[in-house]
Amino acid sequence: MKRTPFLPLVLCLLLIACGGGNNKKAYATGANGNTAASTEDILYFNGDIITMEGNQPQYAEAVVSKKGEIVFVGNLSEAQKQFPAAEKMDLHGKTMMPGFIEPHAHPVSLGGIILSNEIIAPHEWKMPQQTYPAVVGHDNYLKALHDVVNNSENKNDYVMVWGYHKAWHGDITKKEIDKATGDIPTIIYQRSCHEIYLNSAALKKFNVNVSKDIPKDAMAQVDEKNGHFWERAYQSMRAGALKAVFNDEARIKVGLTRLSDMMLQNGITAMMEPSFPNSTFEGEYPALKAEADKTNRYMVYLVPGFPEQYSLKKSNVDFDKYIKTLSKYDSKNITFLTDQYKLFSDGAIYSLAMELRSPYLHCPTCKGEWIIPPAYQKPLFDFYWDHGYRIHIHVTGDKGLESYLQLLEDAQKRNPRKDHRTTFHHLGVIGEDQAERMAKMGAEASVNSYYLYAMGNKYAEIGLGPERAHAIAPMKWLTERNIPTSVHSDFAMAPAEPLTLAWVAATRMSDSGQPLRPDLGCSVYDALKAITISAASTFSYENKIGSIKEGKQATFTILDQNLQTPVKLTTVGRFKLTTPGRSKLTMLGRAKLTT
Ligand SMILES: [Zn+2]
Repeated sequence: MKRTPFLPLVLCLLLIACGGGNNKKAYATGANGNTAASTEDILYFNGDIITMEGNQPQYAEAVVSKKGEIVFVGNLSEAQKQFPAAEKMDLHGKTMMPGFIEPHAHPVSLGGIILSNEIIAPHEWKMPQQTYPAVVGHDNYLKALHDVVNNSENKNDYVMVWGYHKAWHGDITKKEIDKATGDIPTIIYQRSCHEIYLNSAALKKFNVNVSKDIPKDAMAQVDEKNGHFWERAYQSMRAGALKAVFNDEARIKVGLTRLSDMMLQNGITAMMEPSFPNSTFEGEYPALKAEADKTNRYMVYLVPGFPEQYSLKKSNVDFDKYIKTLSKYDSKNITFLTDQYKLFSDGAIYSLAMELRSPYLHCPTCKGEWIIPPAYQKPLFDFYWDHGYRIHIHVTGDKGLESYLQLLEDAQKRNPRKDHRTTFHHLGVIGEDQAERMAKMGAEASVNSYYLYAMGNKYAEIGLGPERAHAIAPMKWLTERNIPTSVHSDFAMAPAEPLTLAWVAATRMSDSGQPLRPDLGCSVYDALKAITISAASTFSYENKIGSIKEGKQATFTILDQNLQTPVKLTTVGRFKLTTPGRSKLTMLGRAKLTT
């Protein structure tokens, strides 16, 4: 077999497992049909091969791939009979699954930027370049800010620090930020990535002129005195005064290389970004394309959406025409989904800005925000509905969901569509009555399960109260109604670790080490579906990826052990836990991916 420069995910993981680098034994499976370097058949055997087909775990003895496509799933003797010349890939008892899929992330606009800048956040972040410790408390935050900014290699230009959150760090004023950062231009990027704070030096460096830079309809989302911009005002800054920051090519390039490492580390073979680009097409597309083609390890699927339409100031008719031209940007590893569109409802859960049916608790400054106010939602939703789009909607609070459920029900009455597959993303605070309506309407779901882990305890004290906070992201209400439900990181709203997301979805684990409302956890199998076949379904790719089935792409992720069987674990990390109240299922959260 010829040597190939292309090392697909499965191979890299195994080579790492074996102690690295024996290229003579390279087997190429291909990250997709186009990129397979080998023309030979490869037979995988001697492991727990979970196909993720059907409603119960199903195992196959052998799988054969050809040119990056799965051509056989079945028993070993039959595989050997049909493909006697196939190269053998001995799994040595490890678990092989379909490649993990991240159905909602922002690789360039959040990933590339966060991974190339500084982090001070309430929870620990394990990034490929370093681990950032958790920082909690107002004074601790400002002290860390001082240290990080003054030690940053970027301090002669500008420093961006992501991760601030008032529930953990208290309110901060420009005066305090200026004191900590001095004359180094500093941008504090709030944990949600829906808000920014600029110190005086940054306001000066980027010539910020609020009355010129912020459209009238977004002026209510600015606190000029504190250099604080959120939601649409933040979007305007991204596309305007801070264009150079959010399109900083050199930094984004560094960030994207790290992002690729992170995806490999966490077993992700495909990623979908709803509402690409977040800032500008020129600022994001070339960087993403260059990285995806260079690493050749994963596919990226892109859905156009409202932020781009808003910043380009295009009418629905013109934006629809524009979307239909995007296929010309498809490349080897990037596909534009030109029949899907992303809309927004309410503000970020990490900003405590979701729209709620009952008031906020113990938080005088908490206030629901609309990213797209209700009056603007209907013409957008109806237009894309009538033009046959699959509509994705960012929704964090139950009132935000209510608004679009009503639009969906009305649209279905007015102009019925069978296979609309309208999909609600995030679903932080929802009611069981709303899950019921989603099921009735044939809607689908993609949940950020990590919300519960990160915020379940804090929001019980501030913002939501225990009843709502402990029921954040209730997977069970969705899966028990057979609503196709994936989990996502919305990277960097959660670590891009599919096994961590699945683990929280099933166990309801929180940052205190205690599960919250474990009765709202889905089954382990549903949690695994949520990172494979249901994740593919979130962007209508369930017939091409997401399970091990003949005709699908041969993309696999290999784990050290079978997630469904209690086994001896070589590593535990902080996330090794047994599913509470449910047999002896063991799941690993921090993926032990044969490293
Ligand atoms: Zn998002």
